[in-house]
Amino acid sequence: MTIAEKIQNLRAALHQHNHNYYILDNPTISDYDFDMLLKQLQELETAYPEFDDPNSPTKRVGGGITKNFETVVHENRMYSLDNSYSKEDLLDWEKRVRKIVDGPVSYTCELKYDGASISLTYVNGQLQQAITRGDGFQGDNVTENIKTIRTVPLQLKGDFPEKFDIRGEIVLPFEGFVKMNEARIEAGEEPYANPRNTASGSLKLQDSSETAKRPLECLLYSLVGVNLGVTTQFESLEKARSWGFKVPEIAALAHSIDEVMEFVNLWDKKRTNLPYETDGVVIKINNLQQQEELGYTAKVPRWAMAYKFKAEQVVTKLESVAYQVGRTGAITPVANLEPVNLAGTTVKRASLHNADQIEKLDIRISDTVFVEKGGEIIPKIVGVAVESRAEDSVPIQYATHCPECDTLLVRTEGDAKHYCPNEFHCPPQVIGRIEHFISRKAMDIEGLGGETVALLVKQGLVHDYTDLYTLTVEDILPLERIAQKSAENLVNGVAASVKIPFERVLFAIGIRFVGETVAKKLAKHFKDIEALANASVETLENVDEIGVKIAQSVVAYFNNEVNIKQIEKLRNFGVQLKLSAEDLEGQTETLSGNSYVVSGVFTQVSRKELKELIEKHGGKVSSAISSKTSYLIAGDKMGPSKLAKAESLKVPILSEADFLAMLP
Ligand code: AMP
Ligand code: ZN
Repeated sequence: MTIAEKIQNLRAALHQHNHNYYILDNPTISDYDFDMLLKQLQELETAYPEFDDPNSPTKRVGGGITKNFETVVHENRMYSLDNSYSKEDLLDWEKRVRKIVDGPVSYTCELKYDGASISLTYVNGQLQQAITRGDGFQGDNVTENIKTIRTVPLQLKGDFPEKFDIRGEIVLPFEGFVKMNEARIEAGEEPYANPRNTASGSLKLQDSSETAKRPLECLLYSLVGVNLGVTTQFESLEKARSWGFKVPEIAALAHSIDEVMEFVNLWDKKRTNLPYETDGVVIKINNLQQQEELGYTAKVPRWAMAYKFKAEQVVTKLESVAYQVGRTGAITPVANLEPVNLAGTTVKRASLHNADQIEKLDIRISDTVFVEKGGEIIPKIVGVAVESRAEDSVPIQYATHCPECDTLLVRTEGDAKHYCPNEFHCPPQVIGRIEHFISRKAMDIEGLGGETVALLVKQGLVHDYTDLYTLTVEDILPLERIAQKSAENLVNGVAASVKIPFERVLFAIGIRFVGETVAKKLAKHFKDIEALANASVETLENVDEIGVKIAQSVVAYFNNEVNIKQIEKLRNFGVQLKLSAEDLEGQTETLSGNSYVVSGVFTQVSRKELKELIEKHGGKVSSAISSKTSYLIAGDKMGPSKLAKAESLKVPILSEADFLAMLP
């Protein structure tokens, strides 16, 4: 046997033993024998470095140091999940689903593992990279650390596709977590607060041999890619399991919401016996083609729903109420609580949302309150023990003035929140608007963080985001803690931002209610900022997906002289205030005034391309057929009930070829 063969054999054997031990829970050799094989391999690899393999079983022990984790854009975005809390919520979801898909619907029910999300890429059966979720668009490359997790296969087996991504959750099972904390306490260190945060922190350790010491597990739940040879979610779980991944066996197929609820109720009870933390059930439309029909909203898939288990509740005392001022001037009341332990973390504050909420709860200072952890990071107060309240207690007087700038607060009708109207001088608003302007999805100005912005504002160097464009290195250097290099980065980052496309500028300037998606819509529709500034509420409302609230907010924004002046300044600095020639290329109004529903499978263009074509030529895309639909574009395998609906509403039906022929 050659050395190369010997090394190959050892690696294959060790991969298999690892699988037997960690995935199948069924070791076929002793730990001692395993260690001996590993040692042999290590010695051979040291003696013959020319046979190095980044996915060798010896890499499990870590040792690689990552100083800065590289940011990587996800090839396919990592979405969040919509939440539901009751059977009614699920029935509502089912209704929305049935409006879009045809035929029988079945659901895969899985547990919702509470850890850190991860996306693994495999090429030719080898782990290629592991990226954290990050903001969903891009995350950190933590491959070195992930390799040390024994349940992550480094080499797949069976009939795996050539290239795919698989998503899952890195969790820290209770047992290992408790052991880790015992060791920490013994060493005189502070114990970790909860398994989830510890798991997530473990992925970002610089020394991978430290990660290797943590008893992390990787539980997988979804395949992403093309031509994966699976047609349902349930099947993809089974496939992934057969390739060597740890896919929990607790998953079931349900054929109705009643059956889904059976799974939910069963596991809400039994989950306390599970080795790791779960916070709900994830319900997914089983048929992958139906999933594709359903698609995504700006944040979540329409084909999945998380059902949150009822959260743990604790009792504590309300000590005081503070008021926070957000970027838009919105005031959020925050409860200061007597510290209490809730689901593994110490809770000192809770959100009270708005004045109505305070009134509804009739919450008063010194009250005994019930606190719950919802989906948000900050817990909420869900009730008050009225009977144990002191006799002389009085209702809370909601703040009348801004805690930051002392301006009289306003509350417009129909708005739940109070606002500080001093938008151009109230410090958190000024800082918040600039922070929003420079953020990644807006102008993406590198080299400028939140702290620096606050400093620049405090020193009077910057009053609004337009001032960023006149900053020089000499201006910035005298600030505390700013090095030459950072100052240069900042100035260069600002200069580079003039290339950011119009749609993102529109998002960056911070018009209330104009988020990323709306900004995109408005940019596409109006093409330049003058046209948008001149639009009336009525014109705006006629744009697809723009409601009256957004329309009024846009008009109010452009009626404010300060805003107009700022935009003029941005124009002088060369910021993009219209669509680029590239964006406009090929755009027409051929389909203007028509709205389309797209359904089925297409052959010449993908469904996504089809939708882009519609929008490029001035048409609207909607997801469900109604009397307002101008055309249904029908591909292969379109369900019969959608067809029937189109026919009953007399919506004309186009084939893919018919539609493509309509384009210029
Ligand atoms: P949230 O962060 O509450 O929006 O929930 C979405 C996250 O749930 C995803 O990013 C996943 O990391 C996580 N998750 C846990 N278990 C599952 C599962 N079985 N299927 C899908 N997502 C899951
Ligand atoms: Zn204020």
